[in-house]
Amino acid sequence: MLEELKKLVNLQAVDSEIFKLEEELDTLPDSNDALEEQIVEKENKIKELKNAIDIQVDEKEKRDEIYKKGEEKLKTITGKQSAIRNKEEYNALLREIDNIKRFNRDLSDEINEISREIEAKTEELNVTNEQFSQEIEGFKKQIDLNTKRMEELDKTIDKLYDEREKLAKNIRPAVYNKYQRILGTSPNGKAIAIAEHRVCLGCNMTLPPELYNMVLRAGRIEVCPNCQCILIPGESHSDNSKTNSDN
Ligand SMILES: [Zn+2]
Repeated sequence: MLEELKKLVNLQAVDSEIFKLEEELDTLPDSNDALEEQIVEKENKIKELKNAIDIQVDEKEKRDEIYKKGEEKLKTITGKQSAIRNKEEYNALLREIDNIKRFNRDLSDEINEISREIEAKTEELNVTNEQFSQEIEGFKKQIDLNTKRMEELDKTIDKLYDEREKLAKNIRPAVYNKYQRILGTSPNGKAIAIAEHRVCLGCNMTLPPELYNMVLRAGRIEVCPNCQCILIPGESHSDNSKTNSDN
């Protein structure tokens, strides 16, 4: 195979690795953002539950206070019984006592109802808290892993760029520039495609016979008319070309 083609194949191997790792690197910040969002969502759900309980506790306290005042009033009124002078006053007193008792009985029902709600919500909060805490812990671990992976990828990619620079230096500028132009417009990081059984494996287009023969000879740089990739002979032919060049 033409020496420059071999160099391009080596360069492509590095570039493909860079492309793959950069793609992975691209997805990680989004992945971390999504995880952070899920953490906030779960933390907010916990906050909502806590707030709902706080509101109920407030409501209960208000009613407790009113209930206590009612009981105190009842005591005061009962103490006034000795000061009653006639039946009318006595009946009025009994009615008042009755009213306060009835009011506090209803209040007590309400307080019990709120207490049951607080209990149920607290139970829900505990279960949710336990479940979410585990999930949040998992998300945080994944964020850590992603962050470490990003640092690792940055380093590896830097090294690969150093490697590619060394390889690029040894390629004739005209050939290298051609390769770069193709790579720059490639959607998948490929500037080189294998041609086998008359087909460009980069885009699956059948190649004109003359072009295919030229590619098999690998004596000069040929590109696929469809995907513009530099064509190199497939495995089954590279042995032939090796033998040819050895001869
Ligand atoms: Zn092609």
